[in-house]
Amino acid sequence: MSIQDNLLAVKQQIQNRALLVAVSKTKPNEDVMEAYEAGQRVFGENKVQELTTKYETLPKDIEWHMIGHLQSNKVKYIAPFVSLIHGVDSEKLLRTINKEGKKNSRKIPCLLQLHIAEEESKFGFSEDELMSLLSKELLDELCHIEICGVMGMATYTDDEQQIKKEFHSLKELYNRLKKSIFSESSEFKEISMGMSGDYLIAIEEGSTMVRVGSSIFGARNYH
Ligand SMILES: *Cc1c(COP(=O)(O)O)cnc(C)c1O
Repeated sequence: MSIQDNLLAVKQQIQNRALLVAVSKTKPNEDVMEAYEAGQRVFGENKVQELTTKYETLPKDIEWHMIGHLQSNKVKYIAPFVSLIHGVDSEKLLRTINKEGKKNSRKIPCLLQLHIAEEESKFGFSEDELMSLLSKELLDELCHIEICGVMGMATYTDDEQQIKKEFHSLKELYNRLKKSIFSESSEFKEISMGMSGDYLIAIEEGSTMVRVGSSIFGARNYH
Protein backbone atom coordinates (compact mmCIF):
# COMPACT_ATOMS: atom_id res chain seq x y z
CA MET A 1 0.00 0.00 0.00
CA SER A 2 1.20 3.51 -0.79
CA ILE A 3 1.34 6.34 1.74
CA GLN A 4 -1.73 7.86 0.08
CA ASP A 5 -3.68 4.60 0.38
CA ASN A 6 -2.65 4.25 4.04
CA LEU A 7 -3.64 7.83 4.78
CA LEU A 8 -7.05 7.42 3.18
CA ALA A 9 -7.62 4.15 5.06
CA VAL A 10 -6.76 5.78 8.41
CA LYS A 11 -8.98 8.78 7.62
CA GLN A 12 -11.80 6.44 6.69
CA GLN A 13 -11.56 4.83 10.12
CA ILE A 14 -11.40 8.13 11.96
CA GLN A 15 -14.32 9.64 10.06
CA ASN A 16 -13.83 13.19 11.30
CA ARG A 17 -14.24 12.13 14.92
CA ALA A 18 -10.74 13.41 15.72
CA LEU A 19 -8.05 15.53 14.08
CA LEU A 20 -5.41 13.41 12.39
CA VAL A 21 -1.82 14.46 13.11
CA ALA A 22 0.36 12.58 10.61
CA VAL A 23 3.59 11.74 12.42
CA SER A 24 6.38 12.03 9.84
CA LYS A 25 9.40 11.72 12.15
CA THR A 26 12.45 10.05 10.53
CA LYS A 27 10.67 10.09 7.14
CA PRO A 28 11.99 12.09 4.17
CA ASN A 29 10.32 15.15 2.64
CA GLU A 30 9.09 13.13 -0.33
CA ASP A 31 7.00 10.98 2.05
CA VAL A 32 5.52 14.10 3.64
CA MET A 33 4.72 15.43 0.17
CA GLU A 34 2.90 12.24 -0.75
CA ALA A 35 0.57 12.72 2.22
CA TYR A 36 0.37 16.45 1.49
CA GLU A 37 -0.77 15.77 -2.05
CA ALA A 38 -3.50 13.53 -0.66
CA GLY A 39 -4.75 16.54 1.30
CA GLN A 40 -3.02 16.13 4.67
CA ARG A 41 -1.92 19.45 6.21
CA VAL A 42 -1.20 18.63 9.87
CA PHE A 43 2.08 16.86 10.63
CA GLY A 44 3.86 15.93 13.84
CA GLU A 45 7.56 15.64 14.61
CA ASN A 46 9.40 14.80 17.83
CA LYS A 47 12.84 16.33 17.25
CA VAL A 48 13.41 20.08 17.09
CA GLN A 49 16.13 19.93 14.42
CA GLU A 50 14.07 17.74 12.10
CA LEU A 51 10.93 19.79 12.68
CA THR A 52 12.76 23.02 11.84
CA THR A 53 14.36 21.61 8.70
CA LYS A 54 11.07 20.24 7.44
CA TYR A 55 9.30 23.53 8.19
CA GLU A 56 11.91 25.40 6.15
CA THR A 57 11.87 23.08 3.15
CA LEU A 58 8.21 22.06 2.84
CA PRO A 59 5.05 24.02 1.85
CA LYS A 60 4.17 26.86 4.19
CA ASP A 61 0.53 25.87 4.63
CA ILE A 62 1.54 22.82 6.66
CA GLU A 63 0.68 22.99 10.37
CA TRP A 64 3.59 21.60 12.35
CA HIS A 65 2.97 19.97 15.73
CA MET A 66 5.78 19.21 18.18
CA ILE A 67 4.75 15.90 19.72
CA GLY A 68 7.84 14.69 21.54
CA HIS A 69 9.68 15.59 24.70
CA LEU A 70 10.85 19.19 24.38
CA GLN A 71 13.87 20.67 26.13
CA SER A 72 13.53 24.27 27.32
CA ASN A 73 16.73 25.40 25.58
CA LYS A 74 15.31 24.37 22.19
CA VAL A 75 11.94 26.14 22.38
CA LYS A 76 13.37 29.21 20.64
CA TYR A 77 13.91 27.34 17.37
CA ILE A 78 10.26 26.35 16.95
CA ALA A 79 8.52 29.26 18.72
CA PRO A 80 8.07 31.37 15.55
CA PHE A 81 6.07 28.80 13.62
CA VAL A 82 4.92 25.80 15.68
CA SER A 83 1.13 25.24 15.59
CA LEU A 84 0.84 23.12 18.72
CA ILE A 85 3.23 21.75 21.35
CA HIS A 86 1.76 18.48 22.67
CA GLY A 87 4.13 17.47 25.44
CA VAL A 88 4.39 20.31 27.95
CA ASP A 89 5.39 18.61 31.19
CA SER A 90 7.08 21.11 33.51
CA GLU A 91 6.72 24.59 34.95
CA LYS A 92 10.10 25.50 33.49
CA LEU A 93 8.95 24.56 30.00
CA LEU A 94 5.70 26.52 30.43
CA ARG A 95 7.67 29.61 31.45
CA THR A 96 10.15 29.25 28.60
CA ILE A 97 7.41 28.80 25.98
CA ASN A 98 5.69 31.88 27.39
CA LYS A 99 8.90 33.91 27.11
CA GLU A 100 9.48 32.79 23.52
CA GLY A 101 5.84 33.48 22.66
CA LYS A 102 6.32 37.02 23.91
CA LYS A 103 9.50 37.49 21.85
CA ASN A 104 7.61 36.34 18.76
CA SER A 105 4.52 38.45 19.58
CA ARG A 106 2.28 35.42 19.56
CA LYS A 107 0.38 33.03 21.80
CA ILE A 108 1.79 29.54 21.44
CA PRO A 109 -0.82 26.75 21.61
CA CYS A 110 0.15 23.97 24.05
CA LEU A 111 -1.19 20.79 25.57
CA LEU A 112 -0.35 19.68 29.12
CA GLN A 113 1.11 16.20 29.12
CA LEU A 114 -0.35 13.99 31.83
CA HIS A 115 1.11 10.79 33.14
CA ILE A 116 -1.45 8.03 32.58
CA ALA A 117 0.73 4.98 31.88
CA GLU A 118 1.88 2.41 34.40
CA GLU A 119 5.45 2.74 33.20
CA GLU A 120 7.72 5.03 35.20
CA SER A 121 9.49 6.25 32.09
CA LYS A 122 6.69 8.18 30.42
CA PHE A 123 6.85 11.94 30.90
CA GLY A 124 4.01 14.01 32.23
CA PHE A 125 2.40 15.76 35.19
CA SER A 126 0.33 13.98 37.80
CA GLU A 127 -3.08 15.44 38.53
CA ASP A 128 -1.95 16.70 41.94
CA GLU A 129 1.12 18.41 40.50
CA LEU A 130 -1.00 20.18 37.94
CA MET A 131 -3.67 21.29 40.41
CA SER A 132 -1.10 22.84 42.73
CA LEU A 133 0.98 24.34 39.92
CA LEU A 134 -1.77 26.05 37.93
CA SER A 135 -2.69 28.90 40.24
CA LYS A 136 -4.65 31.86 38.96
CA GLU A 137 -1.43 33.91 39.28
CA LEU A 138 0.61 31.56 37.10
CA LEU A 139 -2.10 31.31 34.44
CA ASP A 140 -2.32 35.11 34.30
CA GLU A 141 1.43 35.28 33.88
CA LEU A 142 1.40 32.82 31.00
CA CYS A 143 -0.36 35.21 28.65
CA HIS A 144 1.68 34.12 25.62
CA ILE A 145 0.52 30.54 25.93
CA GLU A 146 -2.82 29.14 24.88
CA ILE A 147 -3.46 26.03 26.95
CA CYS A 148 -5.64 24.03 24.55
CA GLY A 149 -6.03 20.79 26.49
CA VAL A 150 -4.18 17.66 27.52
CA MET A 151 -2.04 14.92 26.00
CA GLY A 152 -1.20 11.45 27.21
CA MET A 153 0.41 8.21 26.19
CA ALA A 154 -0.85 4.79 27.24
CA THR A 155 1.38 2.00 28.47
CA TYR A 156 3.13 0.11 25.67
CA THR A 157 1.19 -3.15 25.90
CA ASP A 158 -1.05 -5.52 23.94
CA ASP A 159 -3.61 -5.42 26.73
CA GLU A 160 -6.44 -3.40 25.20
CA GLN A 161 -8.35 -3.21 28.47
CA GLN A 162 -5.35 -1.60 30.11
CA ILE A 163 -5.02 0.95 27.28
CA LYS A 164 -8.75 1.68 27.39
CA LYS A 165 -8.61 2.22 31.14
CA GLU A 166 -5.70 4.65 30.82
CA PHE A 167 -7.36 6.67 28.04
CA HIS A 168 -10.55 6.73 30.08
CA SER A 169 -8.63 8.11 33.05
CA LEU A 170 -7.17 10.86 30.86
CA LYS A 171 -10.64 11.83 29.66
CA GLU A 172 -11.89 12.00 33.25
CA LEU A 173 -8.90 14.05 34.29
CA TYR A 174 -9.56 16.40 31.38
CA ASN A 175 -13.19 16.71 32.53
CA ARG A 176 -12.10 17.66 36.05
CA LEU A 177 -9.68 20.29 34.74
CA LYS A 178 -12.34 21.63 32.39
CA LYS A 179 -14.77 22.01 35.30
CA SER A 180 -12.27 23.61 37.66
CA ILE A 181 -9.16 25.49 36.55
CA PHE A 182 -10.24 25.91 32.93
CA SER A 183 -13.97 26.51 33.43
CA GLU A 184 -13.66 29.97 31.87
CA SER A 185 -11.48 28.87 28.97
CA SER A 186 -13.05 28.22 25.56
CA GLU A 187 -9.61 27.20 24.24
CA PHE A 188 -9.31 24.24 26.59
CA LYS A 189 -10.99 21.54 24.49
CA GLU A 190 -8.45 19.07 23.11
CA ILE A 191 -7.48 15.58 24.24
CA SER A 192 -4.48 14.30 22.30
CA MET A 193 -4.37 10.53 22.73
CA GLY A 194 -3.98 7.58 20.41
CA MET A 195 -1.19 6.37 18.09
CA SER A 196 -1.04 3.74 15.31
CA GLY A 197 -1.71 0.83 17.64
CA ASP A 198 -4.50 2.35 19.69
CA TYR A 199 -6.14 5.31 17.96
CA LEU A 200 -9.53 3.63 17.57
CA ILE A 201 -9.67 2.84 21.29
CA ALA A 202 -8.60 6.42 21.99
CA ILE A 203 -11.38 7.86 19.83
CA GLU A 204 -13.96 5.69 21.61
CA GLU A 205 -12.67 7.11 24.87
CA GLY A 206 -13.03 10.71 23.72
CA SER A 207 -9.81 11.64 21.93
CA THR A 208 -10.03 14.78 19.78
CA MET A 209 -6.56 14.39 18.21
CA VAL A 210 -4.72 11.23 17.22
CA ARG A 211 -1.00 11.11 16.41
CA VAL A 212 -0.50 8.43 13.79
CA GLY A 213 2.88 7.61 12.23
CA SER A 214 3.68 4.06 11.17
CA SER A 215 0.15 3.20 9.99
CA ILE A 216 0.55 5.96 7.40
CA PHE A 217 4.27 6.07 6.59
CA GLY A 218 5.30 2.49 7.41
CA ALA A 219 7.71 1.28 10.07
CA ARG A 220 10.57 3.56 11.04
CA ASN A 221 14.25 2.67 10.78
CA TYR A 222 16.29 3.97 13.66
CA HIS A 223 20.02 3.96 13.27
C1 LIG B 1 6.21 8.50 17.26
C2 LIG B 1 5.09 9.06 18.06
C3 LIG B 1 3.76 8.83 17.69
C4 LIG B 1 3.35 7.97 16.50
O1 LIG B 1 3.66 6.63 16.71
P1 LIG B 1 3.12 5.47 15.73
O2 LIG B 1 3.03 4.30 16.62
O3 LIG B 1 4.12 5.33 14.66
O4 LIG B 1 1.80 5.89 15.21
C5 LIG B 1 2.77 9.41 18.45
N1 LIG B 1 3.05 10.17 19.53
C6 LIG B 1 4.31 10.42 19.92
C7 LIG B 1 4.54 11.28 21.11
C8 LIG B 1 5.38 9.87 19.21
O5 LIG B 1 6.63 10.12 19.60
